[in-house]
Amino acid sequence: MAAQTIPYGRQDITDADIAAVVAVLRSDWLTQGPAVPRFEDAVARYCGAQHAIAVNSATSALHIACLALGLGPGDRLWTSPITFVASANCGLYCGAEVDFVDIDPCTYNLCPKALEHKLLEAEQQGRLPKVVVAVHLCGQSCDMQAIHALSRRFGFCIIEDASHAIGGRYQGEPVGNCRYSDITVFSFHPVKIITTGEGGMALTNDAGLAKRMALLRSHGITRDPAQMTHGPDGPWYYQQIELGFNYRMTELQAALGVSQMDRIDDYVRRRHALAERYDARLAGLPLTLPWQHPDSYSGLHLYVIRLKLDQIDRTHREVFEALRGQGIGVNLHYIPVHTQPYYQRMGFRAGDFPEAERYYAEAISLPMYPTMTESQQDQVVAAIAEALRA
Ligand SMILES: *Cc1c(COP(=O)(O)O)cnc(C)c1O
Repeated sequence: MAAQTIPYGRQDITDADIAAVVAVLRSDWLTQGPAVPRFEDAVARYCGAQHAIAVNSATSALHIACLALGLGPGDRLWTSPITFVASANCGLYCGAEVDFVDIDPCTYNLCPKALEHKLLEAEQQGRLPKVVVAVHLCGQSCDMQAIHALSRRFGFCIIEDASHAIGGRYQGEPVGNCRYSDITVFSFHPVKIITTGEGGMALTNDAGLAKRMALLRSHGITRDPAQMTHGPDGPWYYQQIELGFNYRMTELQAALGVSQMDRIDDYVRRRHALAERYDARLAGLPLTLPWQHPDSYSGLHLYVIRLKLDQIDRTHREVFEALRGQGIGVNLHYIPVHTQPYYQRMGFRAGDFPEAERYYAEAISLPMYPTMTESQQDQVVAAIAEALRA
């Protein structure tokens, strides 16, 4: 039997985290108390953004971000095919059409050149997107300066899906400061950089967008007389002024988030140390290792290798299965979204985004998490060397 599986990612929970959650359990507030604003302030301050809206998942954050930007039927949202389905689904939730832009072969992020080309075509046809979701794959920022310049020229809004990237930097500044975007979204799922169990957050420097997202998070209900159509009927009074949702984060989650934020820089530093070790130990093998753009300090949620299939006698699937068979919890991020049956039914076809499909045919995500030991990592490296030998 294989030794215990080394997962591709896992959370780190300390006694301080546990104490923080227990303190909430003993307090008066399990939801809608002081911990959520404290977590929002901690993340906003860390990232250098003016407003932060905590929600129950990044998926919810993407949804209310799209709605706040006015995305609706007749509009278009574009994103990368190499992402989790949520980055695209948020457009469909709003009744918009979704389309994709192929990836850059070095960073695996949405390619600004491909974006420009597609925008020029769309302009001719009067089919420009309203929103582009830039996904920072593996934690490495997209070329936000280029995407932002295109947004000015073609008039679209930008959401950064930074689910992989909290703790990372772009051009020396924290991802999440929204310098080149309208809204940035984080995920706090347990495999991500910091966790709240489930959870997400939307950051923005636009007070109007922040206000709309805060409303949409909680049924579209306000208790602020300034937002009401008329003065309150009495002290009990609230008004529903939008169609919103219950996307609230609990106090338990937020307390865990505040506690995890104390260690975010340690987590990302540890991920970098592990990545450097992988880089050194995998260097001689027939693999393409992650390339880092000099503008980026990645959050390093994922460490993705690509197999040089012309130099090995095994298939991608055989290597993947050999690794799983040796107890290495490798994964594949991601199956190109346009090849999912739901998207195929909308008319997308294999072959539509060749760089994304080539990536999918070669990529494997290796285990990467802050509590991973060097001996576990050496086990992964040895298993890869073994798996690549036919
Ligand atoms: C994890 C993830 C999401 C969804 O996050 P949830 O918090 O699970 O909703 C969205 N986009 C990307 C790129 C992700 O990795």
